[in-house]
Amino acid sequence: MKVQIRDYSCWQYGLDANGGSYGYKETAVLEKGQIVDGQHWTTADFGFCRNCGSFETDVARHQEEWECTKYIPSRSMEFVAKMIARRRGWRWARREFETRWPEAELLFN
Ligand SMILES: [Zn+2]
Repeated sequence: MKVQIRDYSCWQYGLDANGGSYGYKETAVLEKGQIVDGQHWTTADFGFCRNCGSFETDVARHQEEWECTKYIPSRSMEFVAKMIARRRGWRWARREFETRWPEAELLFN
C-alpha cells in the first residue's frame, strides 16, 4: 500500500519555486502497517533532503554528517501507519488524519 500526504495549503502559483509558498508531499510504502520505504518532496527550488524533509544548503553534506541515509517518516505519516496497523481501515484513518492535520490531504493507492 502506498500512502501520500500532500500539503499544498501554502502553495501559490509563481511563488512555489523560490517565493515562499511551497507545496509538500510525502510518500510512504506500507507493508502490513509497517513503513518500509518513503520520501519527502517539495515544489521549492532549494536544497531539500528527501529522507527527512528538511531544507539543507548542502544536502550531501547534511546526509553524511547526520547519517540521514534513509527515509524518516513525519509524525503524521507514523500516525497513518499506526491506524492502518490497527486495521481501522483507510476511511477511518483519513477521517482521524483530517481532524489532526486539516491543511493536508491523505491519499491511498
Ligand atoms: Zn535529512
